[in-house]
Amino acid sequence: MRAFTYERPVDLAAALVAIGQPGAKFLAGGTNLLDLMKIEAETPRHLVDVSRLPFDQIADENGGLRIGAMVTNTSLAGDVRVREHYPMLARAVLNGASGQLRNQATTGGNLLQRTRCYYFYDPSTPCNKRAPGTGCSALQGFNRIHAILGASDACIAVHPSDMAVAMAALDAEVEVQSAKGKRRIKIADFHRLPEGTPQKDTNLNAGELITAVILPPPPAGGQVYRKVRDRASFDFALVSVAALVDLDGEKIRSARIALGGVAHKPWRALEAEGQLAGVPLSDDALAAAGEAAVKGAQGHGHNDFKIPLAARTVARALTDAAQQRKA
Ligand code: SF4
Repeated sequence: MRAFTYERPVDLAAALVAIGQPGAKFLAGGTNLLDLMKIEAETPRHLVDVSRLPFDQIADENGGLRIGAMVTNTSLAGDVRVREHYPMLARAVLNGASGQLRNQATTGGNLLQRTRCYYFYDPSTPCNKRAPGTGCSALQGFNRIHAILGASDACIAVHPSDMAVAMAALDAEVEVQSAKGKRRIKIADFHRLPEGTPQKDTNLNAGELITAVILPPPPAGGQVYRKVRDRASFDFALVSVAALVDLDGEKIRSARIALGGVAHKPWRALEAEGQLAGVPLSDDALAAAGEAAVKGAQGHGHNDFKIPLAARTVARALTDAAQQRKA
């Protein structure tokens, strides 16, 4: 690990000044950053510890919720409002990591966690995300966990968060603040596809700190988060699906579908959603939506199985969500 300096600012204003130092990086729960520092995939020269800033509350806001960036994953999943009105989010968070990690990991940090691509964590191998311009070892290497949608020749990594997938289906917004002011970013625009710059995971600007995630009022319909992984106890998603189905009698009024484990960002399947709006609820319609959700998907050899797996998981999640609504 490279040597670094550390400070814990007393308030937001001090944190936003401190992050202006060369090589400075924010530290919250540290559950991913410290691992990356140990292998020198991240080499900050100065850590600005924001974990004690007063962003650890969940508050009602305009019929929805304002989730402070320092709210732990455990607190988020356990909040009665989240459990009752945004059950896909509670389920997604509980499906992420272990209990110990959820006690430490924060809402803002969860959004910023980095890919679990094996090569990203192995400094002896080329990796465009860790060392831009060196190449992508996964393209011709072992790529079982990698992307089937939205990848590029520069990187086929996937975003590892479960929480962010549910937030994508819920149309959340991310509130960020810098010395220049405050802004909100739609979650769909927060994470990036790799294109030619896979070293950039998000559209955050230098010096911006996540202060909250805003959930709009709860959408009508049944909600499900379904995750497929190698180990049920603790693992990242091979494929996950956040699904919402709102019924009008036996017709689908609207549906939402977001996938995890398939792309460099949570993947909203808008075409499949549009295909379901207004059609009678049927197994065939939900299966067709599953196929539509993976339209254009491309495997890289070891991960070819993800394409049919994702289609089936979407159909199953939609079925469960519709069933909840009817129940
Ligand atoms: Fe690096 Fe991305 Fe390739 Fe993995 S997939 S080796 S993170 S460039």
